[in-house]
Amino acid sequence: MPSIRSKSGLSSVVIVGGGAIGSSIAYHLKSDPGFSGSVVVVERDPSCARASSALSASSIRQQFSTPLNIHLSRHGIGFLRRAPELLGVDLGLKEPGYLFLSSEAGEAALRANHAVQKGEGCAVELLDPAALAARFPWISTEGIVLASHGTANEGWFDGPALMQAFRRKARELGADYIADEVVELAPGAVTLRSGRRIEADTIVLTAGAWSGEVAATAGIALPVEPRRRSVFVVDVRDPPGALASGSTPLTIGPSGVWFRPEGGFYLAGTTPAAGNDPAGAPLEVQHAEWDDMVWPALAARVPAFEAAKVVNSWAGYYEYNTFDHNGIVGRHPEIESLIFATGFSGHGMQQSPAVGRAVAELIVHGSYRTIDLSPFGYERISAGRPIRELNVV
Ligand SMILES: Cc1cc2nc3c(=O)[nH]c(=O)nc-3n(C[C@H](O)[C@H](O)[C@H](O)COP(=O)(O)OP(=O)(O)OC[C@H]3O[C@@H](n4cnc5c(N)ncnc54)[C@H](O)[C@@H]3O)c2cc1C
Repeated sequence: MPSIRSKSGLSSVVIVGGGAIGSSIAYHLKSDPGFSGSVVVVERDPSCARASSALSASSIRQQFSTPLNIHLSRHGIGFLRRAPELLGVDLGLKEPGYLFLSSEAGEAALRANHAVQKGEGCAVELLDPAALAARFPWISTEGIVLASHGTANEGWFDGPALMQAFRRKARELGADYIADEVVELAPGAVTLRSGRRIEADTIVLTAGAWSGEVAATAGIALPVEPRRRSVFVVDVRDPPGALASGSTPLTIGPSGVWFRPEGGFYLAGTTPAAGNDPAGAPLEVQHAEWDDMVWPALAARVPAFEAAKVVNSWAGYYEYNTFDHNGIVGRHPEIESLIFATGFSGHGMQQSPAVGRAVAELIVHGSYRTIDLSPFGYERISAGRPIRELNVV
């Protein structure tokens, strides 16, 4: 097969992976008036069956432990609110907030995170058990010493619709989507399973959970791997009015078990037990997680969940950054034509608008303009300088 190289000089871009991150970059590039080049998105699975962006819980919060993650999500919620105008789609954004519940063991960390969040101007409040019970009467406060509630800019939205809207808009603006698989990455070129080779001035690696695997084809060590997460769709037989009211926040207990409303149902899940979270496990729902971890914790914390049944479920991959659970974004220190945007470890959906914009700025203007993502650069990995996000749900 012949090689293809854009005739537009320094502005041909190939994006590996067309999920929310890759498609957001494609959209932001093509809508930047300073960009006149070509954008090719190589996506091996146009049905998105295994893309994390199609299997996400699609929630957005400001309650992070690092200021940069707060900034990324703050940009995200602003973008989601403007989605009808920018992307022509209503993403069904709901904003009842997040509620982190803490036992004595987690209290110091909750207070430290709260200080960071307040310093960044987040709308968060700490609730002692009495205030918690008054505000959310459906919660059992047993064992809880403190809670943190986000009162604005937090909630959930239709994530798959966001990914599709980015794709549709990027295409309308002239991005070219190719249904093929990148089997080899090299400086300035990708080779596809079909045998086709595409050269480009910039290659952006946005292959989600498979980014580490794709980077390895170029001999690059990238600490991103697929980690399975199961989501359970739960019907609660007789939820009390306050729980069913629409003001119920995404609630996370001390063990990491979480739930949130979804239509007339609830979504719930947890982080698998340490030692039971292998890379690349098959995308099969772990029903034992519901029986052994999620249901017991929910029934103890929210008595209405005693009469709950799972009516649906799915499993998806976190694109897990084993180094520090944060995005890896920016140019490879030695291969200038290669940009990473991956490893978001469970918060990539809400960060996709900001990351797309930032990477487009890096390509078009040579530097970040809206949000400085340089702390998330690949260099921190070789330098052994983790930016650890403590609030990974
Ligand atoms: C169960 C679950 C719950 C989550 N909840 C939240 C949440 O509440 N809030 C939040 O912000 N985030 C959440 N996330 C994380 C979020 O979904 C991801 O961070 C985000 O979707 C990552 O987007 P992406 O574009 O990087 O990856 P993906 O959507 O996976 O896209 C990557 C694409 O690359 C393609 N690809 C891979 N390899 C190749 C190749 N060699 N050649 C061509 N194409 C390739 C894949 O087919 C895929 O479509 C959740 C994830 C899961 C699984």
